[in-house]
Amino acid sequence: GQDNPGYFPARLGQSLEAGRFCIVRKLGWGQYSSVWLAKDKKQNQFVALKILTCESTKALQTSDEKKRSDELGMLQKISTAQRSHRGFEHTLTLYDSFEFQGPHGRHLCLVIEVLGHSVDYIRHLSDAGDLRLSMALTKRVTKQILCGLEYLHDVCEIVHTDIKHDNILFRLSDVNTVVAHALTAEPSVSYSADTEVITPIVPVVSQPLPLSLEDTVPTAHLKAVLTDVGHSHWQDHHFQELIQPAALRSPEVILGYPWGTSTDIWNLGCLVTEFLIGFWLFEFRAHGDKWNAEEDHLARMTEALGTKFDTVFLSKCQNSQKFFTSSGCWKNFTSHEEPTWLLEKLLAEFASVDLGEDEIIAAGKFLRKCLRMIPEERASARELLRDPWLADVFL
Ligand code: ATP
Ligand code: MG
Ligand code: MG
Repeated sequence: GQDNPGYFPARLGQSLEAGRFCIVRKLGWGQYSSVWLAKDKKQNQFVALKILTCESTKALQTSDEKKRSDELGMLQKISTAQRSHRGFEHTLTLYDSFEFQGPHGRHLCLVIEVLGHSVDYIRHLSDAGDLRLSMALTKRVTKQILCGLEYLHDVCEIVHTDIKHDNILFRLSDVNTVVAHALTAEPSVSYSADTEVITPIVPVVSQPLPLSLEDTVPTAHLKAVLTDVGHSHWQDHHFQELIQPAALRSPEVILGYPWGTSTDIWNLGCLVTEFLIGFWLFEFRAHGDKWNAEEDHLARMTEALGTKFDTVFLSKCQNSQKFFTSSGCWKNFTSHEEPTWLLEKLLAEFASVDLGEDEIIAAGKFLRKCLRMIPEERASARELLRDPWLADVFL
């Protein structure tokens, strides 16, 4: 049916690819796939099988080259381009891939390394209602994701466009041992055979993680991996123009200005702010028929950064007449009853109280380099890796 994207209904114990892989557990799922833990009998190791839905397998093979995304091609490039790069270990490694026929149609299956918890998972484990990450963990994840982005941007020529909590996973120190240990424990949730029914994620237990802001568990052993290039674009070949999760969307995408690798930097700036304060940097909505959600979003940006949009920049944006008059004034937006907080004030008020003032100021300066309205003015991943805020993080 139309609302059936065609998840593969895997069964535990089922074998795939002429008996090479045996399905052991469900690791997770997304809009485009379900992900399974499997034993690879040929290589004698545990692997993750990302089995794309029939619909998304078809989309990868559409004859319309302009609209064709390329998750497999990108993973192949990422896995081979430059293994010695410092960002290589912060991106996902592809071992193999194959296609097979299921009851709903054909599936592409990506054979990838098994990873542990996502950042999303650990933030929901911390003290009730508190979705902040510790400063130590925030800095570590930020630096590692920047290494991964430097590799994607400068070596692979890929724009990720989907940097969010559930696409950042932690690597397991010793996959076979950790997985074997996890499997001795009873599955914590019942297994639903029909993968079109939402099944809770069964996480593979990894090392102890720093859960709360006060936690003293060292973060030094954690390695974050930027996964899921299912929405990513080649720098010189975009397969669509409306990109990024709405809350993390950059001004140039809303305004219709050429975007590229720097759009990931805006996305990262929003996400890192969220790590520190525990809620979205930009929350926006339509105000009745006065102004729409996009205009509200743009207005929130100007308030949080304390800057107006540059009129020369606006004149180069395809959609600016939707939101601005020719003199650069808002077309519809008047003012918020409760204005957005300035970035620095937001950090000072909502980031952990234990943090010294210096640490907050340093974080603010870093974020200002990511959150520039004009894409060309944003720092690159390579430049941000030299930022003083991250100088005391040893990878
Ligand atoms: P989205 O809706 O985010 O686009 P998707 O269908 O493209 O999702 P992924 O994000 O790649 O799929 O994977 C879905 C989920 O499966 C992840 O959020 C994660 O929980 C789990 N997962 C993915 N890859 C792995 C892996 N290599 N090891 C362990 N778990 C994984
Ligand atoms: Mg995902
Ligand atoms: Mg995806």
